[in-house]
Amino acid sequence: MLKKEIPAYQSLFINGEWTEAKEYTPLYAPFDQKELTKIPSAGEDEAEAAIASAVRVKSVMQQMPAHQRSRILSNLARLLEENMERAAELIALEAAKPITTARGEVARTIQTYTFASQAANQLYGETLPMDAAPGGENRVGFTTPEPIGVVGAITPFNFPMNLVAHKVGPAIAAGNTIVLKPASQTPLSAYFLAELLVEAGLPAGALQVITGSGRLIGDKIVKDDRVSMITFTGSPEVGKQIRSRAGLKRTTLELGSNAAVIIDEDIELDRMVPRCVQGAFAFQGQVCISLQRIYVHENVYKTFVDKFTEETKKLKTGDPLQEDTNVSAMISQDDVDRALSWIKEAEQSGAKVETGGTNEGNIVLPTVLTGVNREQKVSCEEVFAPIVMINRVSSVEEAIEEVNDSRYGLQAGIYTSDIQKAMNASEKLEVGGVLINDIPTFRVDHMPYGGVKESGTGREGIKYAVEEMTELKLTVINNNF
Ligand code: NAP
Repeated sequence: MLKKEIPAYQSLFINGEWTEAKEYTPLYAPFDQKELTKIPSAGEDEAEAAIASAVRVKSVMQQMPAHQRSRILSNLARLLEENMERAAELIALEAAKPITTARGEVARTIQTYTFASQAANQLYGETLPMDAAPGGENRVGFTTPEPIGVVGAITPFNFPMNLVAHKVGPAIAAGNTIVLKPASQTPLSAYFLAELLVEAGLPAGALQVITGSGRLIGDKIVKDDRVSMITFTGSPEVGKQIRSRAGLKRTTLELGSNAAVIIDEDIELDRMVPRCVQGAFAFQGQVCISLQRIYVHENVYKTFVDKFTEETKKLKTGDPLQEDTNVSAMISQDDVDRALSWIKEAEQSGAKVETGGTNEGNIVLPTVLTGVNREQKVSCEEVFAPIVMINRVSSVEEAIEEVNDSRYGLQAGIYTSDIQKAMNASEKLEVGGVLINDIPTFRVDHMPYGGVKESGTGREGIKYAVEEMTELKLTVINNNF
């Protein structure tokens, strides 16, 4: 198995070199707690070296022609395709992501870098009608998108390859250098990316990968004035801290949610129940747009709950490396304890457990709850576990109110045959993206993606991330001179 091929120690990747750290921490597989390797714990000095290297190489990337940046990214996509199985196994081991889901993540990562490769050649400005304003006659104005500089990228554990790609891809496409701080539990995918980028032809120092405490080195990256932008994906709590410490830097924050879907009375349930089950339990519900809340019209509520529960019971739990595993271990024991206590709290306030509700070791069984009130954590907080609640509503209008009664707003879905209701929902739902006749757990990598309220600020999706990673330069030529 691949595990044998993981070296006993990983190294930091700074200035194109594999660099030893002063301290190391064991990395354990979440599923069986076996030690996978030892991970460098960078301190302030190593973080300083990484930032200094990114600053030094800034001009190299700024001057690199677009076709060359594009070629590096297409090389990377090709290399990842050639190493697909290894990449998927790394994700499965470090994150306990079921292998078939991990393969899906690698396939998407390849697309993300392919879109980034195309975007590198599509950085357009515009010409401006300067004479639209009195005094602007005989002038030509045009804009040019310029690289923002050093991008600090801080990423979560749940998509260790593709969410890194959503930061590294557009940063290279735009001509920036990067200091990447991946989640402490999932550093292997990021170090693997660095290996591939060397082979793809990225200049030394354009990307640094440093691991260690987010609180320590993440904070150093966030506060450093030489870093021009922070692109962060992770929890709202950390996102708010970053926002308060980043000063005047640009910040993109992709945070959590308690995503919901509305099911109207006129929908053929057999076609969409399996998709809803998939949206609720893929990667143990540890997905920012995981389906957490389902609001079903009272006329089809009972049938929906029965079918959904039956379908959930078919899911197979186990080793992430087994081909038929659907649900594996939570990322940490703390998350198992948290999930179980939230289920208990809901039960104590009158909710019913239709299936699940318990654990087998560090696997939380796929859990379906009904009759949850909105104050319960499983409804109003981000559950980030294989737990879904299904509640009865008397109309789509009522469901929209329920969905909006949340401090989050990433994506929401509505299943209905009525175009008026769908359009009304699209207008009224307070989220970054509305999916009509689909679950909120839908993303392809070029669409604009991001949230409102506490789900964050800014948008990813390659074209939109590239915009966030560039500064618009205006040039005006005075033809009267
Ligand atoms: P997290 O605990 O917030 O950690 C995310 C990253 O931030 C990690 O690299 C972490 O490092 C680092 N970090 C921690 N404290 C920091 C600090 N004070 N300053 C700077 N960096 C710091 O999130 P997670 O548990 O890995 O991921 C789950 C969360 O991400 C969920 O809320 C989920 O909804 C969200 N998410 C959002 C999206 C989206 O696109 N909207 C996508 C995926 C996930 P350490 O690992 O070393 O602590």
